[in-house]
Amino acid sequence: MQGKIALEEHFAYKAPDEDITRRLQHAESWIETSRRLMDFHDDRLRDMDEFGVEYAILSLNAPAVQAVLDPKEAAEDARRYNDFLAEEVARQPDRFGGFATLPMQDPEAAAEELTRCVKDLGFPGALVNGFTQRDVSDSVIYYDIPEYRPFWAAVAELDVPFYLHPRTIVRERAQPYDGHPWLYSSGWGFAVETSIHMLRLIGSCLFDEFPRLQVVLGHLGERIPFDMWRLDNRIARVPHGYPAKHPMSHYLRNNVHMTTSGNFSDPALRCTISEMGIDRLMFAIDYPMEVMNAGAEWFDGTPVLSEEERQIVGRTNAARLFKLERFL
Ligand code: ZN
Repeated sequence: MQGKIALEEHFAYKAPDEDITRRLQHAESWIETSRRLMDFHDDRLRDMDEFGVEYAILSLNAPAVQAVLDPKEAAEDARRYNDFLAEEVARQPDRFGGFATLPMQDPEAAAEELTRCVKDLGFPGALVNGFTQRDVSDSVIYYDIPEYRPFWAAVAELDVPFYLHPRTIVRERAQPYDGHPWLYSSGWGFAVETSIHMLRLIGSCLFDEFPRLQVVLGHLGERIPFDMWRLDNRIARVPHGYPAKHPMSHYLRNNVHMTTSGNFSDPALRCTISEMGIDRLMFAIDYPMEVMNAGAEWFDGTPVLSEEERQIVGRTNAARLFKLERFL
């Protein structure tokens, strides 16, 4: 399919005098990934042309600013990264858009930065790498707590989607993975971390307060679609109830969108469409953590989608949600 819009495509920032390997993993396999993270206009664009990706909304690689302990430093970093991304986008505005990086350590600063990114830089939304740390390294702050309500009010007011992207749990809290490092990150831990965060947002009544708020999850919903029935069924029997007005599936189907990033599985796609409906699913690759042809060729050929549905998921839904009128 030509004309696809891709939504979970990452970049890395490199200051002129900085050794970026300090902030990336050191494994051999990361040398090529790191190079691709820092490339915007060569291999990335060539791959996009070859595999029918017309437009990509780019985001900083995880955990990025969310791992910075000092709120002031996080705010300065976010500003620098967003300005950098805006410059790269401006060189190819027909091909790239930008997701705002937000200093969630300080909800007020995050709201201010999002407002600046949307109004001044023209970004169509934000992508945040899961919980934030603050002050101490073993801190884990999720955004369902009351401190973040003014931030969510700003997101609702700006009427832009919020992409909740995974990150690994902090080392100090990673005991369930002891002895099993292969489960720690994208193989399993990413989905555990991101799905619990999403369900916490629902259970905090966030979407009762802001019914128009829209959150995006990658990886075909971080395993939530498979358990939607069970979530509703079991939570309905919790002795003292749960505080939100509707079952969790109601909010998932009214306030959440999911993308195909990094999960190129026909059965998982079928399950996600069955639970969420075709209008809440969008195309993404998770480049360069995944190679572009793997995501694009699977999507172009999967028998789960009719040609009409492929257009809807591959382009139309994203154009509508991110108000990219020129792609409609
Ligand atoms: Zn990703």
